[in-house]
Amino acid sequence: MTATPTAKNIDGNALAAQLRSDVARRTQALKSRGLTPGLAVVLVGDNPASQVYVRNKVKACTEAGLHSVLEKYDASMTEGDLLARVDALNNDPAIHGILVQLPLPTHIDANKVIESIAPAKDVDGFHIASAGALMVGQPGFWPCTPYGCMKMLESIGYELRGKHAVVIGRSNIVGKPMAMMLLQKNATVTICHSATPDLQAMTLQADVIVAAVGKRNVLTANMVKPGAVVIDVGMNRNDEGKLCGDVDFEGVRQVASYITPVPGGVGPMTITMLLVNTLESAERDGALRGLV
Ligand code: NAP
Repeated sequence: MTATPTAKNIDGNALAAQLRSDVARRTQALKSRGLTPGLAVVLVGDNPASQVYVRNKVKACTEAGLHSVLEKYDASMTEGDLLARVDALNNDPAIHGILVQLPLPTHIDANKVIESIAPAKDVDGFHIASAGALMVGQPGFWPCTPYGCMKMLESIGYELRGKHAVVIGRSNIVGKPMAMMLLQKNATVTICHSATPDLQAMTLQADVIVAAVGKRNVLTANMVKPGAVVIDVGMNRNDEGKLCGDVDFEGVRQVASYITPVPGGVGPMTITMLLVNTLESAERDGALRGLV
């Protein structure tokens, strides 16, 4: 006999649609004052997954009324040529956000390229200045995936103050910034990683768990405290080749109070927060120019 699922889904598609319509409305308002938010997406090489990601990003921009430019270059592009392109985009007044799709070919130093993006246009939030601003609680662009997770928690009215959040994964683009954002909202935060000796002992103490590992079934029902909120960032393939997260969804939903599905959870939020960051960059530009 199977137990009745208790967890409510946090619907990433619905929340993303709501946020995107707000982006579209604010974009229209800016356009009526003569300023169109612009995003430049730079793709080097022909990584198939990257091609899908950049196409989706450009499509989302167009749908929300933003201007977007997709610059595609051959995998043989030199680091110097890429740095020159980023420099040109830094100085292009029609561009408010620059995204260089990762991974880059191995002959290009990705860190050097990211650091060459003007922090005022770093809408991916990967520049060290953006990471530093988040760390010390100053204004700056937040990386889109953890930012989207925070919006999902906000959407259920979840009060993080005084709660224990456990983040599984410590990458610079998800785990670490996620932990900083939760900390900023007054959660007590534990970060777990591949050298954590007893993951279950940690997750069982958590009111909120964010799984950002990239391995199926890293989080199972016996690792979750009843009533916990579970955010699944992972993107993996199951044995049938279907997209799945890091969380054993069917098991964990019997125990958790809220859970994000995969697909339809964090995924749609990531691109949405990219639109939000680009729009806000343009709004800042408009304010500096006295347009808004
Ligand atoms: P990553 O750079 O590979 O980092 C994975 C992290 O998981 C590392 O910190 C690693 O620890 C930790 N880890 C590995 N095995 C573990 C274990 N058994 N127990 C505990 N921790 C373990 O990956 P990422 O870029 O952060 O991405 C994580 C996942 O999120 C991937 O599936 C990715 O595809 C997905 N993702 C989704 C979106 C979205 O929009 N939905 C966006 C970004 C990423 P160490 O540091 O010790 O190696």
